[in-house]
Amino acid sequence: MSTTDTALSVSATINDAVRRQHYPAGTLYVVATPIGNVADISLRALHLLALADAIACEDTRNSAQLLARYGISKPLLAAHQHNEREVAEKIISRLQAGERIALVSDAGTPGVSDPGARIVDAVQQAGLQVSPLPGASAAIAALSASGLIHDRFYFVGFLPAKAGQRDSSLRALQNIPATLVFYEAPHRISDTVQALLQIFGPERRIVLARELTKLFEEIERCTLGEAPAWLAADAHREKGEYVVLLEAAPVSEDEQDLEARRVLAILLEECSVKQAAALAAQLTGLKKNALYQLALEMKQENP
Ligand code: SAM
Repeated sequence: MSTTDTALSVSATINDAVRRQHYPAGTLYVVATPIGNVADISLRALHLLALADAIACEDTRNSAQLLARYGISKPLLAAHQHNEREVAEKIISRLQAGERIALVSDAGTPGVSDPGARIVDAVQQAGLQVSPLPGASAAIAALSASGLIHDRFYFVGFLPAKAGQRDSSLRALQNIPATLVFYEAPHRISDTVQALLQIFGPERRIVLARELTKLFEEIERCTLGEAPAWLAADAHREKGEYVVLLEAAPVSEDEQDLEARRVLAILLEECSVKQAAALAAQLTGLKKNALYQLALEMKQENP
């Protein structure tokens, strides 16, 4: 069987899966679109966009171009950050009349550093259904290819544009024991990296994920001390879209132990040693076995 035949037989099965799902009328569908490569859209998203009665878009011109590439032509509603409240009312009355409305942003997942969350909130408050059609998001794409090993991340999104506000936001993030995820515009990337270097110091590891899924995609892993030289080494690096990931703050063993004891002490009041260890592992991100041993010791010290 050739590659094409395999692709065709897979697509027949998938087509069936796409159609078997219910797409109830009177529902708002939140549809992720590509962050670069036009092929990064799900089959279900395409099916739904073709099925929708109208598509609410952050920028109708951008979305019209994207939809034309998929051969989809639909009535478009402008739904940007300055009209979310008014457009939410229009969307609600159309949903109440039994239409299916899709919501898309310019790129990636609506509501993630993009308009959409207010519309979703208003639709839910009106007692109507909202359903996600998941797909690309720059933050998750960058995390997946970063190699930063930490099971927690903290999505910051865009920092304030003004230097003073940006720096105080950064100082507040200094001790967070999770990978920090920032979005950044190309004209600010050098200043932001300098600010990160000043506040977090040269040893912290950074991942600069540029132009993901596009022709000139680059993912640089280095220390903050090395990052300015990487940016300066090629003038193109002052252009393009960036996700910046910063390694989690190191947590000392003493701090970890204190946190584990604090959480376990609360849980052991109500739960068995086994349950307390399992819950504490979820709450702290520490290993369940180690927490179980510690919980046993604490129970013996304080039956
Ligand atoms: N809703 C989108 C999502 O789900 O990722 C984010 C929209 S936000 C207005 C745009 C920012 O996302 C850019 O300034 C950049 O920081 C990041 N971004 C979007 N596409 C990207 C890409 N292809 N490569 C790297 N960063 C990207």
